Amino acid sequence: MAADPDALNRRAELAAYATETSACTRCRLASGRTQVVFGVGDPAADLMFVGEAPGFHEDKQGYPFVGQAGKLLDQLLAGIGLTRDNVYIANVIKCRPPGNRDPQPDEIEACERHLFRQIELIRPKVVATLGNFATKLLSGKPTGITRVHGVEQEVTLGGSRVLLYPLYHPAAALYTPAMLSVLEQDFTRLPELMGREIAPPTPLLTPVAPEPAPAATVQLGLF
Ligand code: URA
Repeated sequence: MAADPDALNRRAELAAYATETSACTRCRLASGRTQVVFGVGDPAADLMFVGEAPGFHEDKQGYPFVGQAGKLLDQLLAGIGLTRDNVYIANVIKCRPPGNRDPQPDEIEACERHLFRQIELIRPKVVATLGNFATKLLSGKPTGITRVHGVEQEVTLGGSRVLLYPLYHPAAALYTPAMLSVLEQDFTRLPELMGREIAPPTPLLTPVAPEPAPAATVQLGLF
């Protein structure tokens, strides 16, 4: 199949944006990081995962989800016949918060433009949010992950319609067997969601038909 020039452009733009973001100083986390952890995977993936923030190992290696939670994510992906090369993985926050504390609201606000640009360029069909921070940011709602996990919804992100699919965070599931089995269950629906057709948004207003030209104008035009 011939390469789609638009997809090639977006791939190049994502690489350029990663380079630009590697020097980001938009928030205080820039001073404590080893490096910016931009994201990893297929830049044209149909499925994108969004976690919270890099931890110790991610900060050192420069890739998201390379620690214990990442190993679990890899296993869950294998369970649905995918590897991390088939998907794109990013975080809400691109730099490690000190001591792995929760991201602060102003840090999320400073960093969210990077995530939205990634979504705009990757144009995934499904965005699976891992845990509360990603779910709340991308749903635009304060409802917690316990209530919304496993429930997909169509939203517009980065200018495209996507299916937003909240999941428990693998790091939380590592230590709570009941949560792990829910996460495994929710994961099994991903292939079906990736195959789903997403309808374009319904316009809020019905377009108004243009006014007919006044009779005098029509006559002037004719004679
Ligand atoms: N947890 C996250 O949310 N992101 C990572 O990259 C690693 C652990």
